[in-house]
Formats: sequence, structure tokens, C-alpha cells
Amino acid sequence: MKFCLIVGLSLLVSCSMRVVETGFLNTATGKIPIDSMGITLIHEHMLVDFIGADSVSPARYNQEEVIAKVLPYLIEVKKYGVKTIFDCTPSYLAKDPVLLKKLSEQSGIRLVTNTGFYGAVDNKYLPDFAFTETAEQLSQRWIEEFENGIGDTGIKPGFIKISVNEESTLRGVDAKLVKAAGLTHQKTGLQIVSHTGTWATASQEVAILKEMGLDPSAFVWVHAQAEQDFQNYMIAAKLGAWISLDGIGWSVDEYVDRLLYAKEKGFLDQILISHDAGWYDPSKPNGGDFQPFTNIFEKLMPALNSKGFEEADWEMLLEENPVRAFGISN
Ligand SMILES: [Zn+2]
Repeated sequence: MKFCLIVGLSLLVSCSMRVVETGFLNTATGKIPIDSMGITLIHEHMLVDFIGADSVSPARYNQEEVIAKVLPYLIEVKKYGVKTIFDCTPSYLAKDPVLLKKLSEQSGIRLVTNTGFYGAVDNKYLPDFAFTETAEQLSQRWIEEFENGIGDTGIKPGFIKISVNEESTLRGVDAKLVKAAGLTHQKTGLQIVSHTGTWATASQEVAILKEMGLDPSAFVWVHAQAEQDFQNYMIAAKLGAWISLDGIGWSVDEYVDRLLYAKEKGFLDQILISHDAGWYDPSKPNGGDFQPFTNIFEKLMPALNSKGFEEADWEMLLEENPVRAFGISN
């Protein structure tokens, strides 16, 4: 499989709902022009600590040990031409921008970190102030990270990562996180990436953003593979929302069906794919088992190529769509 390494931006203009002709992306090693993103994995993890917001701390792991464990997996995926990886580990789950910078420098793969808070799992990963502050106050914290960097690292986020509990009606705190993400997007242009699950929940998030005057293309519906009714993918795509099929590190078959459906119905240009793989877990000896970032190249591609997928489809999924979803206009 050979990839075109330069995305033809003139091509993007014809297929994009939110046209990004020029623009940039913040990475852990600095700002890059979007036409240099190359083959991109939009949802992976280098390090995740599930201990909870009240106990999470850099003292729970040794950065050099994490690097020694993770680096070979980044080197491994480089052979498939991967140039950029989005690290979706949120604040209070051991988001570590300096670790990403070091891994990036040592691997040659650009890593992208995020701003935002994670509401799923019944608040285990939310700091106390997330309940008392308003959406405006929370968004101020995230905008501050975009403008001045995360903590004292000087490293700026490349997207907003939030999450919500799956509920028939979103909880108040989750609706507030979505609104805070909307406000942050309006101010910064950062894409909203929300750990969600089914369309029953994602559609409520889109409704909040639309009410705020945002275009649904600002929203990435994360873990959309949880949706069983494929018609809902069509509905989301028609609205212009991004559909993230992102657990390919763990299984492949259900992605074959969903991607064939998207190609057949003509909305592959609204789909993002990734593995949700990795990660060093500080609660396990030597970080536990690590899931590699390779199933897309080693398993999904052969499966779909035998059913008619072509090089142009992979360029769209792995290069053009990430640029259109995450590029911020200059
Ligand atoms: Zn994830």
C-alpha cells in the first residue's frame, strides 16, 4: 500500500463542508501547517491512569519507564507511514504533554494533546470545581490552555476532549461540558471530540451545539461503533457531524461492516478511524499489556481491499478527513 503524502487541498475544497484551505494544528512539539499532517491516527493513548481525579498524579509513574515501554510501538507504526497521532488521554486521566513531547522527539511521530474534561464513568475523572463552575468558567480554563499552553509546559492543545455519560437525557454536568466545549470552539476553532457511544446520546450533544449556533461539523462523535442502527450514521453524516470509528486496536469485523456501509452510502468523507490502542497503565506491573497501533494497516486494510476499497479511500480516511476535521483556519 502506497500513500500519497501530500494532501491536495484543491480536492478538499470540493468535498468539505467546512473548507480548510490553509491552517494549522498544535502538536506537542509546536504548531504545524495542516498540509504536513500526513497519515494520521486520530484516537490513541500513550498513558492512561484510571485511579480517579482525586488521586491521579505524575508521581504514580516514571516518565522514562513509560517512554521505554511506548517508544517501540511508535517506531513500529512509522513503517506504515504514520506521521501524526492524536493522544486522547484527557485531563485527570494522566494527560502528560511533556511525555508526549519527549516521545515525539524520540520517535519522529508528531503527537497531539488536548484540553477539556471527562464526565463519563459517573464523575470519577472530574475535579470538584467542574460541578460548581459555570460553562463559561470551564471554557475559560480551556481557552487559557489554547492561548498560553497547558500548565507551565508551553504545549498547546490540538483539540478539545470531553466525555459524557450515556443517558436518555444528558446529566446537567455533561450538558455543561458540551456547552463549555462549544464556547471554547467558538473562541479557538478547536474541534470538539466527545467520548460518547450511541447516537441517542450524541444527538443530544449536537442539539446543544446547534442551539449555540455551531455547525455540527465542529463535533466528533467518539466511539460511534457502539451504534447498532446504521441509519443513525446517515443522520449524523447528513448533519455534518464527524463519525469516529475508533476501537480498531481491539477488533476489526464490526468496522468492516460499518465502513462498507459508509462507502456504499457515500459518506466516507465524514468518517474518522483509529485504534484507541496503547497504553502504559501505572496501576499494572511495568504498565501492563500494550495494544499496538497496527490493526488498521495489518488487518482492516486487507479485509476492506478485498471488498473493493481503494487507495483513494484510505487517503480520505487517514489523511484528508483528519485535516478537514482538525485543521484550524489561520
Ligand atoms: Zn480512548
